[in-house]
Amino acid sequence: MSQKYLFEPAPCPTVSIVGEEKIFPVRRIYCVGRNYADHAREMGHDPDREPPFFFSKPADGLVVGGASVLYPPLTEDLHYEGELVVALAGGGRDLSREEAESAIFGYAVGNDLTRRDMQAEAKALRRPWDLSKGFDGSAVLGPISPAAMVGPCTNGRIASYVNGELRQEADLSQMIWPVVDVIQFLSRSVALAAGDLIMTGTPAGVGSLKRGDVVRVEIEKLGQIETHIL
Ligand code: MN
Repeated sequence: MSQKYLFEPAPCPTVSIVGEEKIFPVRRIYCVGRNYADHAREMGHDPDREPPFFFSKPADGLVVGGASVLYPPLTEDLHYEGELVVALAGGGRDLSREEAESAIFGYAVGNDLTRRDMQAEAKALRRPWDLSKGFDGSAVLGPISPAAMVGPCTNGRIASYVNGELRQEADLSQMIWPVVDVIQFLSRSVALAAGDLIMTGTPAGVGSLKRGDVVRVEIEKLGQIETHIL
């Protein structure tokens, strides 16, 4: 007799794919800590080319399809972070450049929502800050554009707007570590696999959101995502 679950397992989070009926099943969400020099500076760090560092968000923290986000608890300083997200359809450990490149399925526009005050407090107290980054509704994502369709995302404008006002503007070519390097570094720490998403870091200009705000992130070739904060 086969064993049965005590209760139905939670459904696998998914993301839609541009020009494709199939949907992308999500395994893990990784994020790069600092990947634009001007943002590293605004957070009080030296943007020298130190190796990237990573954190993660729960896959079920995804917000897709333009859904609204409830202002999260335990913060008075919810921040937007507009980011390029890379979606993997392959993986492995200790990937070569070629292996990292071929693991890429596509790209999406993302918003790495952050409880900045909680993060700052955790840093000051030398405590883990994962819950400042990994909370319900913390990973906003647009549909995935296949790399086969849009090509490599090594340059192009990335911008964020709050209530129509420009707040972040940069070019993907300003990333300290480009996507392929990010994948290679991460694969030295964990085994990557199909279904993994990597949020690749945000440029300068992060700031607060309040209830009622509309935040829009756009990336050349990938379109935009608009999120209402409730
Ligand atoms: Mn981020």
